[in-house]
Amino acid sequence: MEEIKQWVEKLEGVVEWSKAHPGSTLRELEGQVHEVIEQIRVELMEDAVAQQGVGGVMEEERCECGGRWVFQGYRKRWVTTREGAIRVRRAYYTCEHCGAGFFPPGSAVGDERGME
Ligand SMILES: [Zn+2]
Repeated sequence: MEEIKQWVEKLEGVVEWSKAHPGSTLRELEGQVHEVIEQIRVELMEDAVAQQGVGGVMEEERCECGGRWVFQGYRKRWVTTREGAIRVRRAYYTCEHCGAGFFPPGSAVGDERGME
């Protein structure tokens, strides 16, 4: 995984930053560590969630009004997780009849109706 190399570089960057800033306070160093761990935390969640797919509807699935779902492409959505707000790529559909929006269920993020 290419990301792991980047994460290691980010972690090493904290040590480099400390070397380059002699006399740094505990608070400042804490801030550096926190920021990097936070980034890695979010990126790791995004990568893990992306492995679970983008969601999709079955041919026979219909909107509450009876209309068929029409695929509108993929959307990036923000999802709140315990590890922070992450962006996930999701299939997005609208109802051909009433125009309602729908992100089909995905094992990792669930479904959200009428939102975009
Ligand atoms: Zn509908």
